[in-house]
Amino acid sequence: MNQLTEKTNETVLEVDLGAILHNLNYFRSFLKPETKMLCMIKAFGYGTGSYGLGRFLQQQGVDYLAVANVDEGVELREAGITSPIIVMNPTPNALPLLFENNLEPGIYSFDILRRTLAEAEKRGLTDYPVHVKLNTGMQRMGFNPDELPMLLETLKNRKSLLVSSVFSHLAGSDSPEFDDYTRGQIAAFTEAAATMEAALGYRFMRHILNSSGIERFPEAQFDMVRLGIGLYGISPLHPEALQPVARFKTKILQIREVPAAETVGYSRRGVLTRNSRIGCLPVGYADGLNRHLGNRKGAAIVNGKKCPFIGNICMDLTMLDLTDVEARPGDEAEIFGGEITISDIAETLQTIPYEVLTSVSARVRRVYVNG
Ligand SMILES: *Cc1c(COP(=O)(O)O)cnc(C)c1O
Repeated sequence: MNQLTEKTNETVLEVDLGAILHNLNYFRSFLKPETKMLCMIKAFGYGTGSYGLGRFLQQQGVDYLAVANVDEGVELREAGITSPIIVMNPTPNALPLLFENNLEPGIYSFDILRRTLAEAEKRGLTDYPVHVKLNTGMQRMGFNPDELPMLLETLKNRKSLLVSSVFSHLAGSDSPEFDDYTRGQIAAFTEAAATMEAALGYRFMRHILNSSGIERFPEAQFDMVRLGIGLYGISPLHPEALQPVARFKTKILQIREVPAAETVGYSRRGVLTRNSRIGCLPVGYADGLNRHLGNRKGAAIVNGKKCPFIGNICMDLTMLDLTDVEARPGDEAEIFGGEITISDIAETLQTIPYEVLTSVSARVRRVYVNG
């Protein structure tokens, strides 16, 4: 085989839609048939690519999609996605774009409420769906319980907006250590939502559970749940029940023999203890391969063997030790998604899997398989 004719830009994030569906169905198994499913595809679908994923989830009958900001929602609309889309944290200046693209705002403060009312009234809208966020203990976004009277006063007799749902977010649903706190949040939410319904005089959806909430507090599923990280194959509770969704892989670009006396890479950090075969991968920290994985802290799988990264990870290139494996240029190197999991890397980096997955940069091509 002529290696030179091979395409060298082979660094891809392979996204397994079959695994997405498997994980979706796993979380659905906790739900009553009538409970709605919202999938969080913020941050470019947690790094897995938003429109391909959004289109697939729409086909699978997911009721709502949600993103963090208006630009992410516009991107989905431009890709032809017609599902209802909630924008969790719209900024005031983005409201015109939000309405133009039929996106549904999260209402988290009096300022955003008044501006949304003004924009909806200016457009002559009636019953435009909005989603009111309550703070029950996350202390991040949303109305505090003591703000409810003023919130309800502001919403009363305003025909332009319809409260489509009221929701809150759990601060520690993954951890038994916080279960009392979580139950307190659920109780506060239940009470606040009841107060709102009595005052507004109509039914709206309620939702509070994220992924680990679905697994651990299915009794609090209310009318809808918000599935995020679990969709992408990560669960602190039942990792074995889920399938990995994303495989970050590349192909070896070049291999060289390096004598023990030499060093590899910048600042001569790749110190060798033996004559070595050093491979070079066309992936670097600019692709989201965290630089802290260099100097043998991280590795890639080549032909079934774990090959440690040697020296400092560069912007576009990474060197690895191939001395103990049969390998040729063009062979695949898997960074995560198989034997090395996203959770393994998160542990090495002392962070959470969410950060590892969302760090894979825009330069890396997303490739969907098993769709
Ligand atoms: C990101 C997010 C979720 C999903 O959380 P996971 O832990 O990924 O399941 C749910 N609700 C809100 C408000 C979020 O911001």
